[in-house]
Formats: sequence, C-alpha cells, structure tokens
Amino acid sequence: MSDLSSNLNVHKKVSITVAVFITLAGIFTLSALGLYFDGFLKKSFLETTETRMRHAFQRVELNILGVEKSLLEGIVFIEKHEPTMASIDLINNYEDKNNYNTFLIDEEKKTIAEELLKRVRLSFNDDIALYNQRGELIAYVARGENGYALNIISHADGRTRLLRRHENEFEYHEHPLGGADRDLVALQHAALYAQKRIEQGSVVTYQYTERGLRLTSHLSLFYAQDGEAIAHIEMSRTIDPQYVAALSADLDMTLEVRKLNAGAEETPPSLFDAAALAGLKVVETELNYAGRMRIDSVDGPIIVDGRLERDVLVRTLAENRKHLVTWLIGLALLTLISVHYFIKWRLERPLGKLMAQIQKIEARDYSSSPPLNTDDELEVVSRSINQLAETVRERETSLQGSKRELEYLSNHDVLTHLPNRRYWDSQLESALESAASESQKLAMFFIDLDQFKQVNDTQGHNVGDALLAQVAARLKGHAPENHVLARIGGDEFNIIVNPVDGAEELEAIAEGYLNLFSTPFPVHGQEIGISASIGIAIYPMDGKDKVSLLKCADLAMYSAKEKGRNNYSFFSSDLSAQMKKRAEMSRAMKQAITDGNQFRLCYQPKICTLTGSIVSIEALIRWESPELGMVSPADFIPLAEEQGLIVPIGEWVLEKACRDFSRLVGMGINLQHVSVNVSNVQLSNYELMPKLLRILKDTGVAPKQLELEITESYIATNIQEAIQTLKQFRQMGIGLAVDDFGTGYSAMSYLQTLPVTRLKVDKAFVDGLPNDRNSVAIARAIISLAKSFGLQLTAEGVEHQGQLDFLVSEGCEEIQGYYYSKPLDFDDLVQYCRVEEVDNVVMLHSPEGA
Ligand code: C2E
Ligand code: MG
Ligand code: MG
Repeated sequence: MSDLSSNLNVHKKVSITVAVFITLAGIFTLSALGLYFDGFLKKSFLETTETRMRHAFQRVELNILGVEKSLLEGIVFIEKHEPTMASIDLINNYEDKNNYNTFLIDEEKKTIAEELLKRVRLSFNDDIALYNQRGELIAYVARGENGYALNIISHADGRTRLLRRHENEFEYHEHPLGGADRDLVALQHAALYAQKRIEQGSVVTYQYTERGLRLTSHLSLFYAQDGEAIAHIEMSRTIDPQYVAALSADLDMTLEVRKLNAGAEETPPSLFDAAALAGLKVVETELNYAGRMRIDSVDGPIIVDGRLERDVLVRTLAENRKHLVTWLIGLALLTLISVHYFIKWRLERPLGKLMAQIQKIEARDYSSSPPLNTDDELEVVSRSINQLAETVRERETSLQGSKRELEYLSNHDVLTHLPNRRYWDSQLESALESAASESQKLAMFFIDLDQFKQVNDTQGHNVGDALLAQVAARLKGHAPENHVLARIGGDEFNIIVNPVDGAEELEAIAEGYLNLFSTPFPVHGQEIGISASIGIAIYPMDGKDKVSLLKCADLAMYSAKEKGRNNYSFFSSDLSAQMKKRAEMSRAMKQAITDGNQFRLCYQPKICTLTGSIVSIEALIRWESPELGMVSPADFIPLAEEQGLIVPIGEWVLEKACRDFSRLVGMGINLQHVSVNVSNVQLSNYELMPKLLRILKDTGVAPKQLELEITESYIATNIQEAIQTLKQFRQMGIGLAVDDFGTGYSAMSYLQTLPVTRLKVDKAFVDGLPNDRNSVAIARAIISLAKSFGLQLTAEGVEHQGQLDFLVSEGCEEIQGYYYSKPLDFDDLVQYCRVEEVDNVVMLHSPEGA
C-alpha cells in the first residue's frame, strides 16, 4: 500500500521537476540573451563612437578647408585690382626711405590699407598684409579685440614708423613698432613655403601660435612669368580654442588642437588623408574613447584630439542591465505561473487519471476506463493502459485455466484420464481412516493385464497406449460409484471397494471386471484380445495400512497369474510363502543360467503308428537345481518368460537340441527332425532369427530337420505379426507345429492363413479318449481340421492302448506319449533308436516306468 501512495506522489514530483526545469531553462536563455545584447551594445557603441569621431574629424577638416578657401579667395583680388597694383608700383618705384615723401607715399599706403580692410572684413579673416618687392611690409590690417586696425609702415626723418588707425577712427597715430601689442604680421616678408609653389599660385600655410592654429594664405605678384616678384600679400585666420570649444559643443564631444608631444607619442595620420580618416581607429581607455589626427604646420605636426567620455556608455549599459534583470525576474515569475498552470492542466490532471487507471488494474478491476483525450503521448499511454488491463485480464483467465489443468494433471493420468496413483493414495488414506472410525471393511483390487508387455513389444507403444486407454474406458464404464478406480502403473489398475459385505460379493465384483476382457479390444483397426489378473486384499484382515494392503493385493495378483491368468485371487497367508518361493526360484534360475550345467535336455520320441518306428523327437528341458532339486518346466518356464530369462535359456535349448541332433545323424540315426518348444517371448525377440541361422550353420542341421513348437496364444495375441514371423521360418524350411492345440483361444479360423505345418493335439483331450464324448468330439474335430488344411498331426500324452487305438482309427498317425516312451536322456535315446533298428519291425514298446 505504501508503494501505491508513493506512486501517487510521483507525478507531483514530476510536475515540480518539469516546472523547475522550464523556469531554469527560461532564465538561462534570457541571461544568455542579455549577455549577448550587452556585448552587442558595447560593440555597437564602439562602432557608433568611431563613426561619430570620424564625423567630427570630417567637420574639423571641412571647417579648415573652408577657412583655407576664404583665405585664398580673400587675396586673389589683388591681381586684378588696378588701383592697388598701381599703388604698389608707385611705392616700389618712388619710395625712398631717406627722402620719404610722406604725403604721397603714406597716402598711397593708406589707400592700400583701406582696400586691405575691405578685403579682410569681407572674408571674415583676422589679418591681411602687403609687402613690396623688397619684402618690406607696406601695410596691413589686423583684428583686435574691438575690431580691425589699419596699419601702414612709414619712413620719416630717417626712421621707420608704424601708423595705425582703428577702423572707426579717422586719424592714423603712431604706434610702437616693437610693442607687445604688435600684431603677428612680420615687418619683413618671410617665405614659409617653397618659392616654386607660390610662383604657381596662392598657397596656405599652418602655424602653431599661442592663440591657436594660424592659417595663412600667400600670393606673390609678378610682372612677367619668370620675373622678380613685385609684391607679396598674405591673409591669416587663427582657429582659436573658443572656436574649437564651440565646435566641440556642436558635436557633443571634446576636440582639442595642440602641438605633438614629440618623442612621447606617435604621429597620427593626416587629417587631410581621406583613407586614413575613413579607417580611423578609436582607442578605448578607462575614461573615454579617443581618436587623433595630424595637421602639418611650419612648426611641426599639430594634433587634433577627439574624445568621447565613456561614462555615457557605462551609464547606458548599467541601465540596460537593470532593465534586463527586471525583465528576467518578471519573465521568470510569468514562466513559473504559466508553467504551474500548464503542468496542472496538461500533466498533473492527466497523470492523476493515469494513476487511477493503474490503481484499477491493481485492484483487479480490468474494465476499460474512458481514455484521456489530451491528444498527446499521455492519451496514447492511457489507451495502452486500457489495453494492458485487457491483456492482464486474459492472462489471469488463462492462468486460472492452466492452474485447473495443472491440478487435473497432478491427479490424473494423461493417457487414460483415470485418477493417478497420487490421487488414489490420498483417496485410500481417507477411505482407510473412515473405515477405521466406522469399523467397516474395505477391499483393494489389484488388476494387472496379462502379457501386456508382449503387446507393447510386438505392436509398438502406440498400440499399447491405445489398448490401455480402451481398457481404462471399459473399467471406468463398469465401475459403480463406490469403486475408486485409478491407473497406478503401466498396465496396473487399482480399485478401492468401500464398503464390503463379504467374500461372495467380492468374487462377483472380480468376475464382473474379468468379464470386461472377454471381448477383444478394437485398436487401430484390429482386434486385440487381452486378459487380466486380479489380486484382492481386504482391510483390516490382510493389512491395516496402505503399504501392507497394497503388498497383499499385489501378491494375490501374482497368485492369480499363476493360476493360469485371466483369474482372480484373494490374498491368503500362504501366498506370501509362495511368492517367497517364486523369488527364490527366480534367483536360482539366474544362477543356473550363469552356471550353465544345471540344465539338460531330454528327448521324447514321436512314433509313426504305421511303421511303429521313431520318426522324430521333442526336446524337453530339465532343470536340476542344487537348492531346489528337480524343477518342472511347467513351474519355471512361466517365471522365465515373465522375467525375460527364457531368451538365454531358449537359445541354449535350440543350440543343444541341434547339436544333439547332428550327433544322432553322426551316429547313423536318421530321424526326420527334432522339435524345440519356443516361447512367445522368444518369438517376439527380433534376435531369434539371426541366432537360429547361426545355430543351424554351426551344427550343420538342415532347416527342415528342425521343428519349432509354438503356442496358440502367440498366434492369438497378434495374428498379423505372427503370420509375418512364422512365414520367415517357413521360407527357411523350418517346420512349425502348434503345440497344445485346442486349449487356447479358438484360432481355428486362422489356420488357413497360418504358415504352420503341424498340429499337436493336447494331452487334455487325449486323456478323455476314447470314452469321454467331449474329448472324442474335439479330437475328431482337430484331426479333420488338420486333414482338410493338409497339416501334419501329432497326438501327445498317449498313455494306453485305448487312446492309441482310437487315434489310429481316426487317422492320427503320429503318437507321442508315455505309451511309447517317456522323455529320454541322450544316451537312452540312442539306445532306444538302436533297439528299434535291431527289431526293425512294428513293435509295441512298453512305456518307460509304466
Ligand atoms: P509340451 O510341449 O506340451 O510337452 C509335453 C509335455 O507332456 C512334457 O512335459 C512331457 O513330459 C509330457 N508328456 C508327454 N507324454 C506324456 C504322457 O503320456 N503322460 C503325461 N502325463 N505326460 C506326458 P514336460 O517335459 O514337463 O514339459 C512341460 C511343458 O513345458 C511342455 O509342454 C512345454 O510347453 C514346456 N517346455 C518343456 N521344455 C521346454 C523348452 O525347452 N522350452 C520351452 N519353451 N518350453 C518347454
Ligand atoms: Mg511341446
Ligand atoms: Mg504339449
């Protein structure tokens, strides 16, 4: 039961496991996604920063180029401005520092200054200067804090003066030439560029000053292409920190222009190199992203630094992460809740139903439950459980069936369907108990089939089995209710008869059972005749317990067999003594077979009544046991047959008889043949034929000199088999006589088909001759039968003249009996034959001992 409850909890455990698993998987997936996006953000931020930086540098470049352009455009006017050019000419030609015409020259210079102001203001530049052909400064305009100032260089009284006027003033005032507030404009023109370049047109130079990056455009004026320069004009603008700061603010990043820290840092690529700008690399430091470009100036490389603070990214990332975690928690909760409901509906409930189905099976309720309709594997499982229930139900049913069958088999015999020894034993025990308690008698019948072994050996086991089944059926059909019938061994059937009144009743019962065997059994298309012997033991006189009762019945059965079979016998106290004797005889016989010298053969002459001379002899065995004395063949032959000992004994008889016969021949005593008795057991043994052939060959006896005496019972047991075997003997030329004819089963009708050569009228009928009418009738019938079938005839057991006369008168020509001679030892036989030879007449010999 604890198993069941733990099973019930299993699906809950499964649900929990699934829920945890799904949630963990969700969190893991989201975390992976978060990390991926974090990295992605970082990377894309860097890329954006690079783009922004590049863009900023492009803006700087564009601005500078704009300034360059305005500087260049601001000075080119001069070439086409005739008044100025004329003024320059005048100055070049007439200015004399020693004899300086202030009025004329200064006025020209002032005019030039006016023009320069116009130009510099127009182009929004810082200053503009004009130099004469000697490179001396003529005039310049420079921007101060409050606007432009116009300046000319004058020479008066042998000294050079700087005259200056603010654009808003009218008068020029002298201004110190070397004063601190003097502008950046040089008094003597300095070529900061290659002369060649300026000859080809205007040029712009860069300079790093305290105020910032100063850009100056230069132009030299020539009369002719290769001539000397007549004037130089320059215009400048300074890109100061304020300008850069404004630009930085505009671009939302920090820009800085400074001198290269020579030796401490690498020279970055030029700002004006488009390819370098496109491939700008941004360096990520702890605080910021930084990019650098270079501008070449006359004072060396100038650096433009671009910087973007990193904390923007850090802030963004932190914010993203915060979002991610919030999402994660939210999602985990959502997943948990949905998984919970999902599991409840799709797993827990169906699993619960499945468990209920299984519990039903456990409770042996195999009826089909309505299956789940979840349209998934669980539905399949549910249907399978229903199928399983059906299978289990079928198995259980068949198991019960097999159990019943097993029970039946353990108590019954499969072949005959009768109760078996086991069952019978238990019945006997309880019957004995109740008989004891009620002081009643009961009887035990021990039925054994006669010579069943022979049927089995000659016909095969399937015929034997079929015969047993038929016998069983007949017994069962006959047994009344108070008879407990069972098959307890091969051909042994036992019956408990309970209760019992007296011996007469039991006799009637035994006869009733024996009568069942009077009609042959039809087996596989042939009729098999078999008899039975019954031994009867009674409780409590013969035995008080199972074992002793059974032993008594068994002994009684043997006694019935000894009575000549097809008989019944009650147990009596001297029966056991007899059985003891039988056992002793059996042991002694075995010893005799091994000793080999206890047996001998006698020969009884058979006389032809026509000639009165001996025609043949019958070999008859004699056994002289050292313990038992002389034992009659009528006593030991049935026992030898029963125990199979007849086979070696019979072989010895055949050999000995043939050897003696050939000795007789050797002595010149020529008889027709020697007859040897062969038992049914020998005939059924397939070794008989080869043995016989060997003996004939070894002894030199011709087959026709041998006659085998067989019994009627052999023919009766199995006519077909017998015909086959006997035919083989006949084909060899061996004679076949039916011994004791008329005593056994009425097989007369078979005589026609049997390959026998002789009938021997049994002594039982000869005994009653010539007076007993029955004997006379039978003897006559046998004689006429033999005649009509062309068989030879011998009458045996003839003891006196009356018998002989009758037989002779009926036409029986061969006689065997004490009348002529008892069975003789070999030597006596020789003697007998010799005497006969001497007499050589038909003489009547007085019987031996008579
Ligand atoms: P069986 O083959 O019918 O032999 C004839 C029996 O009758 C012999 O008895 C014989 O001695 C006896 N007998 C012959 N003439 C007379 C007579 O005028 N008056 C009387 N009272 N008896 C006469 P035995 O030798 O005792 O043999 C008995 C049976 O034992 C034989 O009957 C035969 O069936 C069997 N038997 C004997 N020897 C052998 C043997 O070597 N092999 C087998 N299988 N059976 C044998
Ligand atoms: Mg015989
Ligand atoms: Mg006989």
